[in-house]
Amino acid sequence: MFGYAGKILRINLTTGKISTEEISEEFVRQYLGGLGFTTRILYNEVPADIDPLSEANKVIISPGVFVGTGFPTASKTALSFKSPLTGTFGRNNVGAEMGVQMRKAGYDVFIIEGKSDKPVYVYIKDDRVEIKDASDLWGKDTYETRAILKERYGKKASTAVIGPAGENLSYMAMIDFDMRQAARGGSGAVLGSKKLKAIVCEGTGKVEVHDKEAARKLISEYNRIIREHPATKADMDYGSGEFYSWMNLERGTFPTRNFQWGYFQSVYDNIKDGELSQIDPYYWSPKYTVKHNPCPNCTKPCGRILEIKEGEYAGTKIDGVEYEIMYSLGGALEIDDAEVLIKLNEIADRMGFDGISAGVTIGWAMEAYEKGLLTKDDLDGIELKFGNGKAAIAVLEKMGRKEGKVGELLINGTKYASEKLGKDSYKFAIHVKGLELPAYDVRGIKGLGLAFAVSVRGACHLTAGVYGLELVGSWWKYSDVDRLSTEWKGYEVASLENLMTLYDIVGVCKFSRHMFFLEKFIPYLKAITGWDWADENYMMTVGERVYNIQKAFNVKAGFSRKDDTLPYRVTHDPIPKGVSKGAYIKEEELQQMLDEYYLARGWSKDGVPTKTKLFTLGLPEIAEEIGAGI
Ligand code: SF4
Repeated sequence: MFGYAGKILRINLTTGKISTEEISEEFVRQYLGGLGFTTRILYNEVPADIDPLSEANKVIISPGVFVGTGFPTASKTALSFKSPLTGTFGRNNVGAEMGVQMRKAGYDVFIIEGKSDKPVYVYIKDDRVEIKDASDLWGKDTYETRAILKERYGKKASTAVIGPAGENLSYMAMIDFDMRQAARGGSGAVLGSKKLKAIVCEGTGKVEVHDKEAARKLISEYNRIIREHPATKADMDYGSGEFYSWMNLERGTFPTRNFQWGYFQSVYDNIKDGELSQIDPYYWSPKYTVKHNPCPNCTKPCGRILEIKEGEYAGTKIDGVEYEIMYSLGGALEIDDAEVLIKLNEIADRMGFDGISAGVTIGWAMEAYEKGLLTKDDLDGIELKFGNGKAAIAVLEKMGRKEGKVGELLINGTKYASEKLGKDSYKFAIHVKGLELPAYDVRGIKGLGLAFAVSVRGACHLTAGVYGLELVGSWWKYSDVDRLSTEWKGYEVASLENLMTLYDIVGVCKFSRHMFFLEKFIPYLKAITGWDWADENYMMTVGERVYNIQKAFNVKAGFSRKDDTLPYRVTHDPIPKGVSKGAYIKEEELQQMLDEYYLARGWSKDGVPTKTKLFTLGLPEIAEEIGAGI
């Protein structure tokens, strides 16, 4: 099979058994790779009703189909697991060198299962696979762990490691893949529950492709598109947050102060001519950037290494600051201090937290303190006020180590903390299904609001990826989109979920989705596999099939329409000021969008895939298991 290694590596941490399995061509054609493989394997092997931190959970890892073949920005490796944070289908897509090394080592999939009774790590070099003692690594942060493993196995060995948050089973714990985070939903806690501190992988082979010359020509053409695209320079100079001031001033949808404001009022209302908000990359990027830090095969890197060389935080060095973090550890906390932001970013990465969830959780605690629902005593004496950077730093460190009352309260995220506190604190708990909202004030971006409500893993901006289309109004084949209207959003979100699932299957970065559309994937897939029959219809059907399986997992886990909802603040509190003043999503608007979305998907009114839809997608056994109606 050209374009594939053709093998699954299964590692059982309970028995210590290591085995390999062949992947059939039929399976490959139905699910293609990446998120397609991980989704189907998780559905087949992990019962949906298990405790996510029990031995029965698994972490399935698979690089996108184009990863390791040279396609520019094809860097993404998929992970699937049952999420400890949400209880739903869990997934990550991460720009991991490990995906490239997996394929060179001869594997398309890792299945990590069982549970060790002592800390271990897994070392893989081609056919050599060993489970090794990790007692010397346990307790170390992600930077320290990575450095030790690189020292031990050399710089070329790719690593995936967890930090103290994962060891402490924080529902918000991530897995760090060589400074890229598989962040959302608590995959780090699943590894922590298995006492698996790290995976190290190195391969010496390569992926065989069907027509090297055709692939080479396409890669060269696609690199030219990147070079000549007007967005490339800005992306490379300022990273993913390049549009920060536009989001504040032109759209009024940069959520600030725990979603109290739709733009950073305390900064932009006071800014003088020529001044910049300090968390704006136009301020910090020229000042702190040391070098670019691309994901594998990226020729338009948004990633950069920042270093603070002097002052209170001298020596702080990170890959960042990504747009989401500018919000979650900046605006959401009303912090407009670049060095504090960089420091917070470093602590989140070292501790092994999803920086979005951890920041939003601190924002919730700040509001609870402001409202008098949490006292200084509840916060171990910390003055956790909005804008207090030192307090945020102290709290984030305590969360990672699960220290004190505040560490215990906040370690598992906003939903857990607000349920523990009670006292109507749900009214400002900013999550959907337990997953904290990303950096878009959806009160003024209604289609994205629907996407957050229905996404299978909770509030996620990448599942449908509609934010660009909603904010700009047109993209690819879509046009005339009004972000403040609720019309046609069901169709928009459903079709883009299928398309974005396809990006996660082929492994192409969504930051290049304005450069490489579906049309570019088809000739390349043909070049590497030799499948001259593959067309748009086939590709989109794979995306839809995979998305429906994820939904079916959630249905089996007990989720339904009642869970496709939005935070109280989004449906009750209008944006107070700015370009989007007055906007919010009324409950009846959400219900109208849900009706249209389920119709567009071919699901029942309760949000369950119909038997007819599942049969059409070639999933008869799932139709029998969970299908609604006929
Ligand atoms: S654009 Fe950024 S996130 Fe995407 S592949 Fe390149 S470096 Fe990674």
